[in-house]
Amino acid sequence: MAKKQFKAESKKLLDLMINSIYTNREIFLRELISNCSDAIDKRHYMSLTDSSLSADWQIELVPDAAARTLTIIDNGCGMDRNEMESNLGTIAKSGTLEFKEKEKTDESLIGQFGVGFYSSFMVADKVTVFSRKANTEQGNVWESEGADGYTLAPNDYACVGTKIVLHLKADDEDCTYADFLDEGTLTRLVKKYSDYIRYPIKLNGNTLNSMVPLWRKPKSKVKKEEYASFYRDKFFDFRDPAQVFASQVEGNVNYSMLVFVPDKAPYDYYTRDYKKGLALYSGGVLIMEQCAELLPDYLGFMKGLVDSADVSLNISRELLQKDRQLRAIGVSLEKKLRNELGKWLKSDREGYEKMFAEFGNSLKMGAYDNFGAKKDELKDLLLFQSTEGKQTTFAEYVSRMKEGQDNIYYASGASAEAIKALPQVEMFTEKGYEILCLKDGIDEFVIRMIENYDGKKFVSVADKDAASVSEEQKAELEKKAGDYSALLAKMKELLGNKVKDVRLTARLKSAAVCLTSDSDISLEMEKVLRAMPGSEGISVGRVLEINPDHPAFVKLASLEISDSKVADYTQALFSAALLQENLPVDDSAALAGLLIKLL
Ligand code: ADP
Repeated sequence: MAKKQFKAESKKLLDLMINSIYTNREIFLRELISNCSDAIDKRHYMSLTDSSLSADWQIELVPDAAARTLTIIDNGCGMDRNEMESNLGTIAKSGTLEFKEKEKTDESLIGQFGVGFYSSFMVADKVTVFSRKANTEQGNVWESEGADGYTLAPNDYACVGTKIVLHLKADDEDCTYADFLDEGTLTRLVKKYSDYIRYPIKLNGNTLNSMVPLWRKPKSKVKKEEYASFYRDKFFDFRDPAQVFASQVEGNVNYSMLVFVPDKAPYDYYTRDYKKGLALYSGGVLIMEQCAELLPDYLGFMKGLVDSADVSLNISRELLQKDRQLRAIGVSLEKKLRNELGKWLKSDREGYEKMFAEFGNSLKMGAYDNFGAKKDELKDLLLFQSTEGKQTTFAEYVSRMKEGQDNIYYASGASAEAIKALPQVEMFTEKGYEILCLKDGIDEFVIRMIENYDGKKFVSVADKDAASVSEEQKAELEKKAGDYSALLAKMKELLGNKVKDVRLTARLKSAAVCLTSDSDISLEMEKVLRAMPGSEGISVGRVLEINPDHPAFVKLASLEISDSKVADYTQALFSAALLQENLPVDDSAALAGLLIKLL
């Protein structure tokens, strides 16, 4: 029979497997058993509505020393011809692809990452797969000796399910492959890697595994590595999880949860393609791979599963979404996971900050969404950069507030450095006040949604009332404003519709000018809003504020209003204000020309 070729990317991984010098070959057994278990899960689920599919679920290992084969048999859902072709002939799993793009040749990753069926080739030089799909008559056989391709043909394999025959490689100095025929070795490997599999794994009539699912075991009884390998396998990640939350919840609703926080955000996390959700089991039977209802959007980055006998087994997937029990679990779980995040923040600050760098925006969105419905629950989980140079919670900020400081101050800007350089900020840092640095577009929206913390208002340093100006200073400023009213009016006229107003201010120390907003929307928010489609026209009222004591203004004020230099100075001051705020100047060539002229 003519051999069919593997798809290109599969071939690469296959080569890697075959030529692997990787010593952890034994993981092939875990991979194959986990496939068997998944297949039984599927048939188990189907049997709930079609009792003719019920069976005594089991996975059987059959070593045959004479033939030098290890056979693995399951009575799961099986595969038809097309499925064998596409499942065993290609790798299309996104996780697998990502793995290959990143680390084309890193062998150590093979063991960490769920490479599934292909790992057979680490121990076998020929693999034969018999399978018959549930509710079909015809079985098929797939066979391959590795990279040169595979054959696929009808076969009268009579049982529903799959049988995989591994023709073990000849022993060499690296490995005694015959060990994988040894009962003791097989027992040890099953205990080590597959103990939690819910279906019996049998060898010579004995069940080797304890069959207690990982998530039903108390967290203290499970090794970190067990959780990690379960996570990597199940959720197609080659990194270990950053955090594991596991518990058995009893009360209004009863369920076990095993939830992981990935180390890195998947590349599509902040896109519409990303699908959130936890796997849902009912008494150990998988009902749904990804049940979105179990996780609020802001925790959508978490992966894992929930197992609850309270969810009816016979419920259809459509009805499930409206199920009362499921909702109750969702509500309880959300609270539980928030608590866990809170504990994490207290017990492992560094780890939490790392997580926040990946997923903090998601939590911030949670505080903002639905008009801040969850802001009180989430505000203590948020971190912001501060002028103190570290990430801070609101509570920590408040605990450091200075005598006489009533508000929590914030400023928007691309970096903490840029914010510290803002002219408006000087007044505050001089008093020793700390300022929250809002770096992400969403930050200011969130802060404004939260409004206040512990009775302290959030106030932008750009707010015209933010600076505490004494009555004396105010009176003096008013007088000056009167003195220079003609000049200020002229400047406003010169700037036309670029500004809403030109005013004197007492809030600047060493800087000459600053730009502020006359409306509730700040200049930073305007930038964010303008980047959104359909809101190009959005414009806040910009106000040019001037420090009357600055030499630049003193010089300007000494000119006759009719002097042509007034226009040049005004233009220069306005451009400087734009640049300070990181806003584009209208015509940079004209500005360059103006600078040269003024020199
Ligand atoms: P993964 O398990 O990560 O999806 P594998 O390469 O291990 O990748 O398997 C590919 C696919 O082949 C599986 O998703 C499944 O659909 C099918 N498969 C593998 N083993 C079995 C089996 N024992 N019974 C039924 N289907 C199987």
